[in-house]
Amino acid sequence: MGKKYVYLFSEGNGSMRELLGGKGANLAEMTGLGMPVPQGFTVSTEACTRYYEDGKTIAPEINDEIFEYLSKLEGMTGKKFGDPKNPLLVSVRSGARASMPGMMDTILNLGLNDEVVVGFAKLTGNERFAFDSYRRFIQMYSDVVSEVPKEEFEKILDEQKKARGVVMDTELDTEDLKLIVERFKRVYKTYLGKEFPTDPKIQLIEAVKAVFRSWDNPRAIYYRRTNGIPSSWGTAVTVQMMVFGNMGNDSGTGVAFTRNPATGEKKFYGEFLVNAQGEDVVAGIRTPKTIAELKDTMPEVYEQFWKIAQRLEDHYADMQDMEFTIEHGKLYMLQTRNGKRTAAAALKIACDLVQEGKITKEKAVLLVDPKNLDSLLHNQFDPEALKTAELLATALPASPGAACGQVVFDAESAAQWVKEGKKVVLVRHETSPEDIEGMHISEGIVTVRGGMTSHAAVVARGLGICCVASCSGMVIHEDQKFFELSGHIVHEGDYISMDGSTGKVYLGKLPTVSANMSADYITLMGWADSFRQMQIRANAETPEDAAQAYHFGAEGIGLVRTEHMFFEKSKIRAMREMILARDEETRQKALDKMHVYQREDFEKVFEAMEGEPVTVRYLDPPLHEFLPKEEEEIEALANEMGMTVVRLKKVIESLKEVNPMMGHRGCRLAVSYPEIAVMQTQAVIEAAINVRKRHPSWNFEPELMVPLVADLGELKFVKAAIVRAADEVISHANSDLVYHVGTMMETPRSTLIADQIAKEADFFSFGTNDLTQMTFGLSRDDAASFLNAYYDRKIFELDPFATLDAGGVGQLIQKAVRDAREIKPGLKMGICGEHGGDPASVEFFHRCGLTYVSCSPYRVPIARLAAAQAAIQYPRENV
Ligand code: PEP
Ligand code: MG
Repeated sequence: MGKKYVYLFSEGNGSMRELLGGKGANLAEMTGLGMPVPQGFTVSTEACTRYYEDGKTIAPEINDEIFEYLSKLEGMTGKKFGDPKNPLLVSVRSGARASMPGMMDTILNLGLNDEVVVGFAKLTGNERFAFDSYRRFIQMYSDVVSEVPKEEFEKILDEQKKARGVVMDTELDTEDLKLIVERFKRVYKTYLGKEFPTDPKIQLIEAVKAVFRSWDNPRAIYYRRTNGIPSSWGTAVTVQMMVFGNMGNDSGTGVAFTRNPATGEKKFYGEFLVNAQGEDVVAGIRTPKTIAELKDTMPEVYEQFWKIAQRLEDHYADMQDMEFTIEHGKLYMLQTRNGKRTAAAALKIACDLVQEGKITKEKAVLLVDPKNLDSLLHNQFDPEALKTAELLATALPASPGAACGQVVFDAESAAQWVKEGKKVVLVRHETSPEDIEGMHISEGIVTVRGGMTSHAAVVARGLGICCVASCSGMVIHEDQKFFELSGHIVHEGDYISMDGSTGKVYLGKLPTVSANMSADYITLMGWADSFRQMQIRANAETPEDAAQAYHFGAEGIGLVRTEHMFFEKSKIRAMREMILARDEETRQKALDKMHVYQREDFEKVFEAMEGEPVTVRYLDPPLHEFLPKEEEEIEALANEMGMTVVRLKKVIESLKEVNPMMGHRGCRLAVSYPEIAVMQTQAVIEAAINVRKRHPSWNFEPELMVPLVADLGELKFVKAAIVRAADEVISHANSDLVYHVGTMMETPRSTLIADQIAKEADFFSFGTNDLTQMTFGLSRDDAASFLNAYYDRKIFELDPFATLDAGGVGQLIQKAVRDAREIKPGLKMGICGEHGGDPASVEFFHRCGLTYVSCSPYRVPIARLAAAQAAIQYPRENV
């Protein structure tokens, strides 16, 4: 027997996500639990992979298998595909292993044609319904399979409504719908140059292909890249018997959550529309009723649904997001999945489930997506400023956080303005998946239509971006680029402020205050910390950043980029004098100035960390970042240095590097000018001695870190200068201060000779930014401009500067860790590249056996949680 590609729902179960996708696996699981699921089958993700391997065609044996299962479905339902007397209609939907809401396509009512629709009308005794289903099918099929622009169909619908003097789709009668069907088919023919396909079998196979194709549409690719989902997974396709929520007022369709996805409150929560089909709810075109109203209108259905929902939540031990349809008073379950939720809700649900005795603390820690914490850590509006703020409207609080920005009306403008350095709020009637990139880069999103489960709400919540939905008083004049709201006119470029936690929209720019951690956050992070096997440090160089990092739970500083301590206007001058000095005397003069700044700054940073370890990385300035460019700056500096402008310009010219990121930086600078390392050593040691005097109980041992080492000789040379200077200061001060000299591992060569370096270094810190740059030979400064072509051509799936390349750069790290531990088993090894705040990379570092990760302050909580999840899933022995 050949390989099996198609599975009845009754043949699968919830553990088969990889093969059946989340949707297919959960439909199978619900079937197994005896729940009312319209039956169907799933074409597996392996069929999708085959489709791509076979040059985007469906192999004959898979084609045959699909129709074999269609016959089985006919047998099970007693209906026949394409038979006008008793037609089987199906939905064709995508379902990947990881949920990718709204990223791929769905087709409903498949199996209709001119004959079937007539039989279907007779059978249901509802001609209007039959033609409404038909026009929806043509619309969806044309869009998804044949890519006819959606607007063409919207236009026809609008024209017909206008001609009949009605507002709602539901007010169109059978004759209107028949006319619309004819016009829709004509549009199809105009675009495709052929008739709309009447053979349901062709419709089915084309629809399956279209779902496979949609795995590779730009918005799915973008979603995968931002969520770290590999393209090799593919999507499954579920083919399911249609049930109809649009058969009258005893029918309906909706989406519900077992708990509130915005707050986590344990309360059945959701929305539904009477007499409607699925896409009406998700598209957010009509404003739905709450699930509580279902209790009033159909109490028995409500009761049954509520029981199923509870059972599903208990079964999956997580909050469920369910789609359902009611056909003539009978309930059907169309989907269940672990619901997307805000960070606040995720924390509350995880803590509540532990308290309810339903899950362990480990499972609770795994339930919260580390990336999601971002939204908790972002600012809120200053409550004082809110008292006098000009409130424009209160709408649905769809995704929390406070945002302000300049109004734009479409995703392209958002992209353009953000490129120009502006902050924007995207204002739309409703959003659709095409808007995803624009949404991602906006500060916030306001929509006129749509409920809490509309596209804008679901996507914004997933992205952790603030969103206010259903702002129905807003009138948008898109072509003239302004909106009216509460008697105000707001133009493109004007500022508005919005609060996604309260649903309020304000005029102008409001000040924000730092985020406040909830009790649930503290509880869950406490659990996370107890499971974690890696320490978390922060990259920080200002006392403010250090304090913020400490507040977020950093257990030390893993990287003080000392060159960043000179970014202030008043300090950069000294740094420039040092760089541009042509003789030792001038350089020493500059270094003396820097020395004073450094000692003061180090003291402040050490104080902010209250005795926790601090790793001071020695100067590593890419020279071009510090050379003056403006004429005025050059003149002032020349004056200060007692040089002519012409001479100074010559010096600047002589220091220009072709590839500054590979240039005269890191320890190379200290090899040329050891006095720089001497000055920094003196400053750090003096600062540490001063701080120790003030806080004798702090067992503080500064860590001095030499950057960009590629050769053992470099480290030995710079280390000797450091040790000499440090010991001199210590003995002069009669102190017993202990210090450590370590190195960054950020050149490929350093990782290859890690055994030699381990003998000289007290610790390692992997600089994965430079290590990625040099391993790939991709410049950190320039690569972004052409990496898009790499994503488009599927050469790269992820940005290697954001998520560590485990297969290449990761191997160098693994090797270095192994070799170094052979020499010094207890050697402290961390990482301080940007990857330290990326959950997938944190997992990799945990598995490598690193001692700590160090990341930017706002990502410390993310790293804490990611490290805990890694430890729960891949516990290290001997810790
Ligand atoms: C690195 O290269 O990973 C690093 C942390 O140093 P920087 O980003 O300052 O070069
Ligand atoms: Mg570096």
